[in-house]
Amino acid sequence: MDTEATTVSRYQVFPLIPLRGISVFPGMRLIFDVDREESLGALNAAMEGDQTLFLVAQRDPSADNVGGADDLFKIGTVSRVHQVLRVPGEEGAKVMVEGIDRGYMSRLAAAKPYLSAQVEVLQSETSPRGAVKAEALIRQCYGLLEKYAQGSGLELDDVLRDILGSSDAGYVADYVTQSIYMRYDQKQMVLEELRPMRRLALVNRLLRWELDILDMEHSIHEETAKNMKRAQREMFLREQLRTIQAELGEEESYTDDTEEYRAAVARAKLPKEVSAKLYKEIGRLAKQPFGSAEAAVIRTYLDICLEIPWERSTEDNLDTEAVRRALDADHFGLEKIKKRVLEYLAVRKLAPDQKGTILCLLGPPGTGKTSIALSIARAMGRKMCRISLGGIHDEAEIRGHRKTYVGAMPGRIMTGIQQAGSRNPVMVLDEIDKLGSDYRGDPSAALLEALDPEQNSQFRDHFLELPFDLSEVFFITTANTADTIPPALLDRMEVVEFAGYTDEEKLAIARDHLLPKQRKKHGLNGNQLRINDGAMREIIARYTRESGVRLLEQQIAAVCRKTAAGIVEGQFKSKYLRAGSLEEFLGPAKYRDQRTGGQAEVGLVHGLAWTRVGGEMLDAEVGVMDGSGKLELTGNLGDVMKESAHAAMSYIRAHAAELGVEPAFYKNKDIHIHFPEGAVPKDGPSAGVTICTGLVSALTGVPVRQDVAMTGEITLRGRVLPIGGLREKTMAALRAGIHTVIIPAENEPDLADIDPAVRAALNFITASRVETVLDAALCREDGHAED
Ligand code: ADP
Repeated sequence: MDTEATTVSRYQVFPLIPLRGISVFPGMRLIFDVDREESLGALNAAMEGDQTLFLVAQRDPSADNVGGADDLFKIGTVSRVHQVLRVPGEEGAKVMVEGIDRGYMSRLAAAKPYLSAQVEVLQSETSPRGAVKAEALIRQCYGLLEKYAQGSGLELDDVLRDILGSSDAGYVADYVTQSIYMRYDQKQMVLEELRPMRRLALVNRLLRWELDILDMEHSIHEETAKNMKRAQREMFLREQLRTIQAELGEEESYTDDTEEYRAAVARAKLPKEVSAKLYKEIGRLAKQPFGSAEAAVIRTYLDICLEIPWERSTEDNLDTEAVRRALDADHFGLEKIKKRVLEYLAVRKLAPDQKGTILCLLGPPGTGKTSIALSIARAMGRKMCRISLGGIHDEAEIRGHRKTYVGAMPGRIMTGIQQAGSRNPVMVLDEIDKLGSDYRGDPSAALLEALDPEQNSQFRDHFLELPFDLSEVFFITTANTADTIPPALLDRMEVVEFAGYTDEEKLAIARDHLLPKQRKKHGLNGNQLRINDGAMREIIARYTRESGVRLLEQQIAAVCRKTAAGIVEGQFKSKYLRAGSLEEFLGPAKYRDQRTGGQAEVGLVHGLAWTRVGGEMLDAEVGVMDGSGKLELTGNLGDVMKESAHAAMSYIRAHAAELGVEPAFYKNKDIHIHFPEGAVPKDGPSAGVTICTGLVSALTGVPVRQDVAMTGEITLRGRVLPIGGLREKTMAALRAGIHTVIIPAENEPDLADIDPAVRAALNFITASRVETVLDAALCREDGHAED
């Protein structure tokens, strides 16, 4: 049963004031301004009458004039004016009104001089006492209103609380609507709802809607606040960081440098691909928060890329005459390599696009490999860079680490290019034979890619991530031995051998190059220090033993140092060193004179060995004593060498009678073969003839000529097989004062390669059988053979 009903009371004509954006509810008071002329007229009319008027909202609150009834809502409030406040000198007035009843405007009664309307006064029924539904709606309203108050900061004043204690749903609805923020059209809806319960239900709905909006506002507000906070925090931290950096003197890093980078990229002449990549990185840099690690990485990357000579190259000096003169001025001898460089230049003149020259300078230390490489760069007018490959295990050392690694950098190749500052330098790769390879990757594979003329025009460094053209680079590698160079690499290179110097060559090098160089280094002139050839020979023979001239240079440096010190201390004004006067500067000689002269000895044979550092004289000592047939080998020998000794023994047993050896020696004699300098490991088959000669000498008591040295492998049948390293071995023989060198017959063609000075100074005997060796080395004709 619907308990809500509307009773029609009476019609009345009231002066009318249109309201803009506000509404008045029955039982409520409202203060508002009256400005418009018509409204003031209506007010005056009301004041002259019973002080009641009709207040109704305009449909369009912004309209200044009301043209007709359609511009107004139909339902408004019949109200009583309580107070009118006029400010003297001003047109308008402030009025306080109280709503009495809702009213329905049936028509406009007049428009001039003020609006008046015929109004039907509506009296809404109050909700029935104790109605459960009304109570529920009121409680719901109370709950919503509390929440609304919390959310909006509205003061729920006592009056409002009292009202909520009322049981009249319509009244409560009106009061609440009047008290909270609501849009004017919503308020109008409430005003127009004449049934009290529906009215409150409507108000509750509107309240909930307002709460939702409040919630939404809240979360928006919170989000903004959070963002604001974060931004503020970052700003604050950045400010702090800047202060700290300023304290540390690092403040310039905060400048926004992306524009500078852009300008630098634009200035630098770069290939398209490179500049595109760099612009991209600059774009990334611009997005990095200040002080981020990533930004630092990008900056390093850009700095390095900008320093790489992508398009910069130098002009080659193709004047072969001038280059020849420059090379000769720096280095004595070394004809092979000098010629090779001149050929290279000649070919370049004819075919400028010729690419991919990789030389490998192979030889003992101190033979000038590195220094001639540098001199080649100078003579050709190229920039140069030097990379030491010794002990590199990691591929990344050659090709760089990817940018994502902490502290990543380009590899050595690109760093070298960067340092050289041109894309066609002479790149010296030192110690390519000492390149390692293990679980970290194979550096030789990366190196191969850099060296291979087929691939190196697009060499990619992991750090740079951009291809670089290495095809214009002149690669020169150096190595002491070819044995440990990865074969794939060795294949790509043209090997130029450096054999080591004879004493005469060393003398010339020392006199013409090393001494002047060291004198200059130590601030001495040619009068302050002179070393004559005799003294120089003594340094070479008694203070050094090497294939190259590295130690020789060190000794000369020591002499210069001490001379300089003596002059500064006033001990002398100048120094002239002759043979025999070196002890003062260099101390006692390190090597005794190996020249043993002609004194033949039983069981002592000079062998010749080849090592990484060049040729060496290697003596074999053989001792024979009564015993039970034991063979002892000492002196740090490798397996191959031990086997050579056994082969020699077998040969002698088989030919005992011819050799004049007691046939049962292998049963009743103990034999000891020893190679002095036990600390040095020795191996190889080429000591075969040496051991055999020592054994025969010891077993027969026939002495061995000490001015003879030998090298050669033997077979059980007494054949002499060829050996390697002849050039170095013969030099060592000459150094040791040997006159005659016995070599395998099959090595005879190699004699052509031997230094002419060495060839002239030595007497060569070629042997295809051991008997020839024994004939030459044993002093049988002396009559010792009868022993
Ligand atoms: P490597 O690289 O073969 O080990 P270096 O190039 O370091 O040897 O040479 C050692 C020193 O000997 C350098 O000072 C070098 O100038 C000098 N040197 C070597 N050979 C010659 C030569 N033929 N003429 C002049 N100086 C030489």
